[in-house]
Amino acid sequence: MKYVEFGATGLKISELGFGGIPIIRLDTATAVSVLQRAYDKGITFYDTANAYRDSEQKMGIAFRGRRDKVVIATKTLKRDAAAAAKHIENSLRMLETDYIDLYQLHQIAQDKDWEAVTAPGGALEAVVKARDEGKVRFIGVTSHNLPMAVKLVNTGLFSSIQVPFNFIEHAAKDELRTTALARHMGILAMKPFAGGMIDNAEIAFKFLRRFPDIVPIPGCDSIASVDEVVSYYKSCNIVTKADFALMDRYRKELGKQFCRRCEYCQPCPEGVMITPAMAYKIIASRMSPAVAVEFSKAAMESVQKCIECGICEERCPYELPIEEMLKANYDLYEQHRELVRN
Ligand code: SF4
Ligand code: SF4
Repeated sequence: MKYVEFGATGLKISELGFGGIPIIRLDTATAVSVLQRAYDKGITFYDTANAYRDSEQKMGIAFRGRRDKVVIATKTLKRDAAAAAKHIENSLRMLETDYIDLYQLHQIAQDKDWEAVTAPGGALEAVVKARDEGKVRFIGVTSHNLPMAVKLVNTGLFSSIQVPFNFIEHAAKDELRTTALARHMGILAMKPFAGGMIDNAEIAFKFLRRFPDIVPIPGCDSIASVDEVVSYYKSCNIVTKADFALMDRYRKELGKQFCRRCEYCQPCPEGVMITPAMAYKIIASRMSPAVAVEFSKAAMESVQKCIECGICEERCPYELPIEEMLKANYDLYEQHRELVRN
């Protein structure tokens, strides 16, 4: 594993980080063993969030006695100072530490988010206060919205920026990367596999390795996936013409509007299993109709409960027309079901 300077923070971190969402699916003992395997493989940068259920707690347990050997980033979705201050205290407790290396304002996607966090009594106040008190070393920000991310970089207020970055969503390699590097900021790539839509780690990493100043933070939910990710990351250096052609095929297959499985839209008040149902078109393109129908049955049947309330669309950071996409996927599922019946 190589270690790189993280912007102008003076922190040196592994060139490959670890994203803290998938460990929420694991029991504590398994999550701890996955995190410790990542550490043993040389990963020293760990990103989590107050919003990722017990992810912080699992990291706290995994790195007991090794706190000074890892760099921990966490974040809050809260927009006001009082609630953000509570989240910081909670993160410190869960992570079993008295300092957080990087504290990020989470998912600043729209002007209204920015106005809220920077207003008097906004979340930024609490994070700056925590930094002044030594509870937070550096302040960062995350956004799924690229123009907003560029705007955030240009405020000059942050040590790092975290955005989605992979060979499908690669626009951050241009203005955002140039501007952030000019400001000596650390850049973190969330969703290096486009939320699981890229099922080929080799080409995902071949693309990412072309940008050594951007640190990817893939999430892993098993020791085997840690081993796989680390070994691919080390070995995937040369991008061939065939790789570029394959990347193009993925881009065409997924189009611009696809679900990244971030689950911000959940829960649906009517019980629609939004995330797996949104993936039906992709799933069906990768298996036979019979297997796709069987595999996705529960999720697709739940789509019928949708009352088109629009709540999920308001929550989706990618502004996906979820209702329309669910309907289209359901139509496809019905066609496949008929095909299988006959
Ligand atoms: S629009 Fe449908 S899927 Fe979305 S939250 Fe409302 S009921 Fe659930
Ligand atoms: S529909 Fe949007 S919010 Fe929901 S999981 Fe997909 S990308 Fe995330």
